[in-house]
Amino acid sequence: MNQSTQYYYPIIDGVEYRQIKDWIDMREAASGELLAYLADSGKVEIDLAVDSAEKAFETWSKTSVEERSRLMFKLADMIEKNAEELSILEAKDTGRYITEMRNDFIFAVEQIRYFASVGLAFEDFGNTLNGGYMIGKRVPYGVVGQIIPWNDPSVMLIYKIAPALITGNTVVIKPDHNACLAVMEIVKMANTIFPKGVINIVPGTGEKAGSALTSNKKITKLAFTGSVPVGKLVGNAGISNIVSSILELGGKSPNIVFPDIENMDAVVEDATSAVLNCNGQSCLAGTRLFIHEDIYDQFIEKLINKFESLKIGDPLNEDTELSGMISNKQANRVMDMIALGKKEGAKLLTGGNRATIQGFSNGNFIEPTIFEVKNSMTIAQEEIFGPVLCVLKWSDYNQMVSDANDTKYGLASGMYTSNLENAMKLADDLQAGCVWINKYFNIAGGFPFGGFKESGIGRELCLDTLKEYTQLKGVSIVGKTI
Ligand code: NAD
Repeated sequence: MNQSTQYYYPIIDGVEYRQIKDWIDMREAASGELLAYLADSGKVEIDLAVDSAEKAFETWSKTSVEERSRLMFKLADMIEKNAEELSILEAKDTGRYITEMRNDFIFAVEQIRYFASVGLAFEDFGNTLNGGYMIGKRVPYGVVGQIIPWNDPSVMLIYKIAPALITGNTVVIKPDHNACLAVMEIVKMANTIFPKGVINIVPGTGEKAGSALTSNKKITKLAFTGSVPVGKLVGNAGISNIVSSILELGGKSPNIVFPDIENMDAVVEDATSAVLNCNGQSCLAGTRLFIHEDIYDQFIEKLINKFESLKIGDPLNEDTELSGMISNKQANRVMDMIALGKKEGAKLLTGGNRATIQGFSNGNFIEPTIFEVKNSMTIAQEEIFGPVLCVLKWSDYNQMVSDANDTKYGLASGMYTSNLENAMKLADDLQAGCVWINKYFNIAGGFPFGGFKESGIGRELCLDTLKEYTQLKGVSIVGKTI
């Protein structure tokens, strides 16, 4: 991996496309220092990348799944070998702290190996006909356009490309211009392994490069992770070309604490990381914590102590437990939501200010913040995408379930209980794509990941994802024409 590279070009047909006129400054999120220049690509580059992917599809779709799997394992090994450098680059780019970034790359590598493995066992189906047979044959779509966000760039890249590639599709990726340098490095590595044109990447803004990708008529499937408004644009752009989309959108996930928990300190710890992972900039974050009234006061006291003891600071410091927002714009948005919370009458229990970190005067750090809220308040309903937790006291089970489900989102949910009956009942009652019992963010390969309601369409990370990236062709055969 060559980290001294200062210019990141689109990678089209296996090579850097160098005819770029416009550039975007890529800055370290925490210090504001210039990291690199990123191509500000548009329709010309997108169209070339789609053409290259379309050409590569002819061969790639006929390449055996064993060979596709072999190349994916090679990519996993290469990322693993370079994981430390990639973690540092992504920590600088996103402002997320280094220990969390290292875990991201372990997870990303696991996901490639998961899809490289299960793809081998992904079978078509067959049945008998009168005098013959029929089969449901799964075939790849063709060129998939994939758009990813800035909060978790490399993991998002792998979520997208691993299932698409093992099933025989070729890809054009549009990463987010706020943070994507490790993604650009991974795609460079991938192009030393995969045939040219199979994995193309065209960086740039959503307005220019993103919309050029979604409107390109040669795209046969779209996959998007990001906000609900842009998700609707992507879905509609696809439908106007009769192309389906996988949409992974936002969340305002409930996390419920029952009074029967056995180890309150461990639950406080887990509920804290549930909301503060990615510095709070995670679609999955457990942002609404419902605490039973019998343990409320004691739990809140411990939670405030935990929040106030966290070490906020330099993303590259090994001791850091919370770092800053991706940009000043995002930090302002979070501070606006904090101000709105106060105006709405939410009770501020801790935090609520920007944090000043020595040596990082250009950083965008915010104190971890807790508000006691009513579920109807805007800060309890809208995604804040920052280190802000809303807590609610509950006593009546049915009312708690009704409040937990009373949101337009339905991505994730969690709960803590030592009572199996509570756990099974609440898991059924929650309207969310995933339910974590006694450990939030407990994801592993094969776990269905995706949202109910406005949180999205489709499932990533699991066996069903292979179906998302293939379409069924029915073929029947009889012995002779009669
Ligand atoms: P965003 O929707 O603004 O941007 C996401 C991506 O879409 C970026 O690559 C951006 O360049 C692109 N884009 C923007 N406008 C576009 C357009 N008109 N056409 C095509 N592409 C366009 O989201 P964001 O603010 O960068 O990311 C945060 C959001 O993403 C949050 O709402 C969060 O919940 C969501 N998110 C969801 C998941 C998930 O898996 N469900 C994961 C991470 C983030």
